[in-house]
Amino acid sequence: MADSARYNLALFGPAGSGKGTQAEFLKSKLGVEHIATGEMLREERARGTDLGQTVGTYLAAGRLVPDEVIVAMIRHRLEAPQADAGFVLDGFPRTVAQARALRDVLGNLDRPLDLAMVLEVPTEELIKRLSNRAKVEDRDDDTPEVIEERLRVYHDQTEPVLDYLADFVQVARIDGTKQVDEVSREILQAVG
Ligand code: ADP
Repeated sequence: MADSARYNLALFGPAGSGKGTQAEFLKSKLGVEHIATGEMLREERARGTDLGQTVGTYLAAGRLVPDEVIVAMIRHRLEAPQADAGFVLDGFPRTVAQARALRDVLGNLDRPLDLAMVLEVPTEELIKRLSNRAKVEDRDDDTPEVIEERLRVYHDQTEPVLDYLADFVQVARIDGTKQVDEVSREILQAVG
C-alpha cells in the first residue's frame, strides 16, 4: 500500500455477506472510519424528516435510494476530518453512477481508493442467514420478498460496479462462507 498510515477501502458483498461485521473489524484494527450507508439511511428515516420519509419507502422495498441522495450524504462524510485517517465504505458505491461520483469526490480530495474487497457467499446461504437474522433483529427489509429483491438489486446494479472499478483499483475477492475470524484474517492479508 502506497501510504501505510492511511487506508481508503471499500467493502462489497450482497446482503447477509457479513460486510457490516468485517467493516467494524477494520475500524477497530486500523482506526479507519466506518461509513455504512444503510445505517446512515436508517438514521435519516428515524429522524422523521421529509427526506427520511422518502428514504423509508425505498428501504422497506429493498430498492436503492436515488443516487443523488446518497452521493450528497457520502460526500459530506468523506470531506469531514473524521475520514482523514482513512475509511472503509460499507454499502457504497452500489451503482456505476455512484462509483463515478465517488471517483470524482476522492479525486478532488487527492485520496484515491486503495482497495475494493468483495465478500462472496452463495445465494442459498445468504437467504438462510438473513431469515435467521430476521428473527433476532427488527429490520423491515428482512422479509422473504424484500430479501429476494435486495439480492436481485445487488446482482443487477452492484456487481457491474466491480467491473467498473477493476480498471483502476485492485479488487480482492474473499470467501465469505468461512468463520468470521478467518474472513477477518483474509481481509487483513488483502489490505497488506
Ligand atoms: P444490506 O447490504 O444487508 O442490504 P444495508 O444496510 O447496506 O444492508 O442497506 C440497506 C438498504 O439501504 C438497501 O436495501 C438500500 O435500500 C439502502 N442503501 C444502502 N446503501 C445504499 C446506496 N449506496 N445507494 C442506494 N441505496 C442504499
